Amino acid sequence: MGKKNKTEFGCKQIQPMIPGYLDETLDMDSARIFTEHVKKCAVCRDELEISYLLKFGIEKVERGETINLTEDLDSMISDTEETMMRLTQFHTAVKLIEGTAVFMLCVCILLLYI
Ligand SMILES: [Zn+2]
Repeated sequence: MGKKNKTEFGCKQIQPMIPGYLDETLDMDSARIFTEHVKKCAVCRDELEISYLLKFGIEKVERGETINLTEDLDSMISDTEETMMRLTQFHTAVKLIEGTAVFMLCVCILLLYI
């Protein structure tokens, strides 16, 4: 696989996003970059696990719930990915509609001049 330097984000940019990711306050692009990075970077994944434990771990233990860190985080990440996918599909649909509208407008203008 070739290295895509343009989309490659370093751990230094990713790790400050962790609190935002857990709070679900990251914007769409950041969340996408974040999940892509965390899936292949063990260092940031570890950081995320620690932050996750600190944020939700105590709460869960207090409620008597078991913590399955890997499972919990995996489902959180795939939830994000699903949301991204749906948003991407939505944006593609909007672009298609926009494209069609512009095309129709051009046809109308052309027809007016014929
Ligand atoms: Zn990293």
